[in-house]
Amino acid sequence: MEELQSNPFYGVFNRQKANQFKKGNTTYKERLKKLDALKTALEVDYKQQIREALYADFKKPFLETDLTEIYPVLTEIKFAKSNLKSWMKDQKVDTPLALLGASSYIVFEPKGVCLIISPWNFPINLTFGPLVSAIAAGNTVMIKPSEMTPNASKVMAEIVSALYEEDEVALFEGEVEVSEDLLKLPFNHIFFTGSPQVGKIVMKAASKHLTSVTLELGGKSPTIIDDSANLEKAVEKIIFGKFTNAGQTCIAPDYVLLQANLKEKFTTLFKSKIKEFYTDQVELSDSYSRIVNKKHFERLTSYIDEAKQNGSAIVSGGTSNVSDHFIEPTLVFDAPENSKLMQDEIFGPILPVKTFTTLQEPVDYINSKEKPLALYIYSKSDKNIDFIMNHTRAGSGCINHNLLQFLNHNLPFGGSNNSGLGKSHGFFGFEAFSNRRSMMKQHTMGATDLLMPPYTNFKQKLID
Ligand code: NAD
Repeated sequence: MEELQSNPFYGVFNRQKANQFKKGNTTYKERLKKLDALKTALEVDYKQQIREALYADFKKPFLETDLTEIYPVLTEIKFAKSNLKSWMKDQKVDTPLALLGASSYIVFEPKGVCLIISPWNFPINLTFGPLVSAIAAGNTVMIKPSEMTPNASKVMAEIVSALYEEDEVALFEGEVEVSEDLLKLPFNHIFFTGSPQVGKIVMKAASKHLTSVTLELGGKSPTIIDDSANLEKAVEKIIFGKFTNAGQTCIAPDYVLLQANLKEKFTTLFKSKIKEFYTDQVELSDSYSRIVNKKHFERLTSYIDEAKQNGSAIVSGGTSNVSDHFIEPTLVFDAPENSKLMQDEIFGPILPVKTFTTLQEPVDYINSKEKPLALYIYSKSDKNIDFIMNHTRAGSGCINHNLLQFLNHNLPFGGSNNSGLGKSHGFFGFEAFSNRRSMMKQHTMGATDLLMPPYTNFKQKLID
């Protein structure tokens, strides 16, 4: 207890705890009012500030910020607005005959005081997206955004303090130590988005209080292309998926498994599409982001340096500029299995490609690694698609596209095992921040009344 009281965030935590029933007992209209305030902030009042913050953080193009940061939160709010009334309704379920005289229903009650820890790569989207679900479910929320995108965190802090009282939503900027202190508190739920390594730290801290967790993690997301695919479209979409946000996307195609006879055509198409999307001087393109900081820039350029030395073929790109952390879209063939490119989550604009001849090879390769967050298939063959689907496991995916599964709020979003625990978005986000409270209501004398002691022979016969 003493340890808790000396925690710098205990005061706010306690005020949120005291406020939890007031928040939890709000009507759907009151919750929607809170969400509408966030909608106006993102759509109107702070839109330009958000764009400028992300440009300052890693030169993210304004349009990309609109599309990948603001739009997904707005659609999450819109979806909640259309559905919250029905999500909040008690769910009636059947009652078995043996319990005659009672009715049964599930109440979606708020979990209580929740913590959201978010990453830097889509700071607005991955902080406010879960916040929409938490508010929709009637919780109070404490938020810790990433220290790596300080400008985005600053705008979010401004938005939160302008829209909400501290005893309902509070945001804390700062370094990792802030997260560490917050994680010591007995939250009712923690929603964490970040790396599997930190996910394990979060889960360990949560276990101390048996706090439930949603872990949205990462890893290497494979993309398989077979020789029935429309290769031009596949390359186009993979470039979009891989180089949006300069590859710093959890569900970006991490590497490609390509049918061997497509190698030359794939390379030619890759080069021409890069030129079409970003001109032949990508560094001057205003449609291309930078790497978030020096540490990650050096990590990624070390992968390129390693590829230059270990016999990999860098067939496109490979240049970089430390002054603003630019790394050119880079295509690499034949990276050895023990190289960092094939072992680490790349999280940057480098695309390694590994070739195969029979479909069993990519399936075996994927299954030799941790379960991916996303798996993408480019093929026109239903037989091949079925084969891959039936012999692999992943959190989500697309057939003949990538990334877009994130934008459909009817789909649960999340990983499996090493790539995550639990789901977010739409109803699934609401569910993550709710407890399903099982309720039974006795209306009249029921069959079970007959089974109260004393246990007579007559009662024994009733159940035999
Ligand atoms: P990270 O795990 O380093 O950090 C995430 C958050 O955890 C940050 O707010 C950070 O301050 C905090 N943190 C870092 N170290 C901590 C510690 N020791 N104790 C407590 N808190 C700590 O992740 P990142 O670099 O911000 O983001 C990249 C990772 O996130 C990638 O692995 C990516 O795949 C994953 N990601 C997953 C999703 C998803 O939806 N599944 C989305 C985006 C990113």
